[in-house]
Amino acid sequence: MSKSFQSPSGMHDVFGEQYDYFEKIREVFSRMATTYGFEGIEIPIMENAKVFSRGVGEHTDIIEKEMYAFKTKGGDQVALRPEGTAGIVRAYIEHNLYTKSQPIKFFYFAPFFRYERPQAGRYRQFWQFGLETIGKGGPVVDAQIIAVMYNVLRELGIKDLMIEINSMGESKCREDFEKVLKKYLRKESSSLCADCKRRMKKNPLRVLDCKRCIKVKESAPQIVDHICPKCREDFKKVLEYLEELKIPYDLNSFLVRGLDYYTNTVYEFFAPGEEGRLALGGGGRYDGLAKLLGGEETPATGAAMGVERTVLLMKNDGIKVEKEKPKIFIAQLSDLAKRKCLKLFEEFREAKIPVSESFGQDSLKGQMSKANKMKVDYTLIIGEEEAAEDRVIVRDMESGQQESLSTKEVVKEIKKKLK
Ligand code: ATP
Ligand code: MG
Repeated sequence: MSKSFQSPSGMHDVFGEQYDYFEKIREVFSRMATTYGFEGIEIPIMENAKVFSRGVGEHTDIIEKEMYAFKTKGGDQVALRPEGTAGIVRAYIEHNLYTKSQPIKFFYFAPFFRYERPQAGRYRQFWQFGLETIGKGGPVVDAQIIAVMYNVLRELGIKDLMIEINSMGESKCREDFEKVLKKYLRKESSSLCADCKRRMKKNPLRVLDCKRCIKVKESAPQIVDHICPKCREDFKKVLEYLEELKIPYDLNSFLVRGLDYYTNTVYEFFAPGEEGRLALGGGGRYDGLAKLLGGEETPATGAAMGVERTVLLMKNDGIKVEKEKPKIFIAQLSDLAKRKCLKLFEEFREAKIPVSESFGQDSLKGQMSKANKMKVDYTLIIGEEEAAEDRVIVRDMESGQQESLSTKEVVKEIKKKLK
């Protein structure tokens, strides 16, 4: 076949084994989130571009370099969502969710878009699973969100998780610290990379995130030394809750996260990958975001993990996902048999016995080989003769023994055998 088209660069079709991993993560995550009282939310994949530029921040990589923004035919400036939080807070304000019992707890599993240079573990369309708690709650809620994510990753079989954690203080602390940091960076500006020279003026905290300016960072002032006593107290509480839950963490005073809206506790999850450690995701508190989007100051905190990176790790660690295996295979020969088999399939499905078929295939040999590959317990065969007599041949795949049963009793009989 000639391949005239390919998927857009950095965007992938998800199917086969990859899809099974996605489904496994979605299943474990939504079950866990529901247990902790989170409700699912789906929001549009695009928003007014200002939701992101105001919320995430103009001078962040996500907005400056990575956003898919365009004008619609109607003239609206929109953007494909690069992350989940800003849109969910927009929805919280739009639907007056602050008038409901607080906090509002949402979970999502969804695709996001960033115009990045595609490479392993970095795509232009990627998926995240995330949590947001909006409207009420202090440090205990931060700890709970960390715990949910930790438990999800653990249940998926990921070991050796590392959580790095820091506090950025509330916006006042952050502003004060930015002044101190700017002063320091100005002194060191000749050793900064080109990006950081620019960041230094508009978003100095981002310098602490830079992978190139390690030397300058080493002797930089530390944010935890500059936050107010209340913020310090709150941060201490988060750490105490984590200790209570026996969730291991490392303090990292350079951790600032890329986005503008974070305040107070921020963290990132890592696990050992094939080439060094892999960042799985992160989160933090964002009490100022609702206000940036036109609402009122609202306590809120959330986290998001990358699905593809979680899959990558699961594969590296040799973690397999098990699908429910069919126990029965229905094979057919002749047109009349096909009709009977279609009906029989429905009966097994309704009886909740996992069943499989290959009705599109006419040769019995092909069907039997498929049944063998699927390692089913029994294959049910209906040929022309059986179809006419309303009977079915039941083959025990292990012993090879066959018996003939009436189609009316076959579901009941198989149920007995499987017990
Ligand atoms: P990085 O420093 O790796 O660019 P980030 O700070 O941009 O990460 P976040 O915005 O915190 O990432 O997103 C949380 C998680 O989502 C990341 O840890 C990662 O697992 C995943 N993620 C982010 N961007 C991409 C991408 N382009 N492709 C695949 N996964 C991504
Ligand atoms: Mg990034």
